[in-house]
Amino acid sequence: MTVNDKVAEGKGQQLEVNKSASGYTDKPDLRHRQLRGGEFWKKIPAYANIPEELFNDHSWQLKHSITSVDKLLDTLRDIVSREFYDDAKAGFAKAPMAVRVSPYALALMNWDDPCNDPIRRQFIPLASHSTPDHPELHLDTLNEQNDSPVFGLTHRYPDKALFLALDICPVYCRYCTRSYAVGFDTEEVAKVKLAQDEKRYQRIFEYIRSQPQLEDIVISGGDAYMLRPSRIRLIGDTLLDIPHVQRLRFATKGPAIMPMKLLSDHEWYDALRAVVDRGRKLHKEVVVHTHFSHPDEITEISKRAMDRLMEDGITVRNQAVLQRGVNDDPATMILLTRRLSYINVHPYYIYMHDLVKGVEDLRTSVQVGVDIEKAVRGATAGFNTPNIVVDAPGGGGKRVVHSYEHYDRETGISVYTAPSVKAGRFFLYFDPFDQLAPDIQAAWRDEKKRNDMKQAALAAAKKENAHRVM
Ligand SMILES: *Cc1c(COP(=O)(O)O)cnc(C)c1O
Repeated sequence: MTVNDKVAEGKGQQLEVNKSASGYTDKPDLRHRQLRGGEFWKKIPAYANIPEELFNDHSWQLKHSITSVDKLLDTLRDIVSREFYDDAKAGFAKAPMAVRVSPYALALMNWDDPCNDPIRRQFIPLASHSTPDHPELHLDTLNEQNDSPVFGLTHRYPDKALFLALDICPVYCRYCTRSYAVGFDTEEVAKVKLAQDEKRYQRIFEYIRSQPQLEDIVISGGDAYMLRPSRIRLIGDTLLDIPHVQRLRFATKGPAIMPMKLLSDHEWYDALRAVVDRGRKLHKEVVVHTHFSHPDEITEISKRAMDRLMEDGITVRNQAVLQRGVNDDPATMILLTRRLSYINVHPYYIYMHDLVKGVEDLRTSVQVGVDIEKAVRGATAGFNTPNIVVDAPGGGGKRVVHSYEHYDRETGISVYTAPSVKAGRFFLYFDPFDQLAPDIQAAWRDEKKRNDMKQAALAAAKKENAHRVM
């Protein structure tokens, strides 16, 4: 036993420490290791008698997902008020996304204060929180359909592409950036259809084969959790067989809203593991990308699920979205970052919120993104520190939030360039409409003034840009 071991066991001589060292503290903050456990779902009236084995069964979770306000009422009964139901009902009627919430996610919401709950905000819209959309908002704001050489494949960057394998998810996030395609048609939006159709897949594979520069394929949708195991293998094996394809990522919100599937859906898990293992033998990387947004979404069940992936050597990375009232403060983001690291999920990105119909209340300004970045960097290992990015509207791709050419906090316009994606072009992102001063909001509603503001921001960006080395 070495001296260090003795100190660690607390048996050795008193450790001399320099208490003024800046990392030293008598009361370390270890909240990220305190995960919610126990039978927390039993507080929900409809789940009061659901035993652990049943709650942790993915098919039970899927079958009991909340898909309507009536079902919500049936499940929560008298733990929330009539006003809340009416508010949610009116919220859903206006929403561009269909409703689907897993019992697990529902049980993690704080029903003593549902209006302010960060998980509720992501899945259950309240009409009373709704604010007008930004006048610059368009349905496919990222221009994914225009960057698609074949239907269902977005090829925007030189060496990587996004394969939309299906259009269904285990839950529907109300802020879905792909609300032009994902989920059922709603009163607000008729959707593009992305079926799990082999003929459609074959055209996509053909295109990828024809593009030798493509090394990296994101398999998304929709959500890879809902891909049939045979489809996971078909897509995984076909892509791994293409010599120039080097990296695959299966994208799924699943671990955040239904982690038990990774422990109970053996067929699906085995399909994923088989593709990962086969990739490893071919010296190709196959990983999972997921989407936790709040530390409350990480429980003991998530830890067990992530432990299993860790044991099987499956890398998981996280892509969160920065959302007002959900995670737009440094303490929450630091806790999320540390908690993800604790369960071996790499915090990869935090997205600035896309401009999506009906969710202006969730967006934050670019300034908030810049401030959060400053606070999070240094709180943990650099390789576990996420990049905060704006996916530039119009197809500029992801840009680090503070790399803007110009940012006018008054009009809320930030301007980005993307030399390796669309050289010579300028991309505009817009701060949330409801947070602008009343006279600026009025200017946005006026066609001519709106154009003047955009032209002024572009001119300022071009002037700045002229001084750049590159
Ligand atoms: C996000 C995205 C990718 C992957 O980008 P990374 O920055 O490597 O994660 C690829 N294609 C499209 C269209 C995307 O939106």
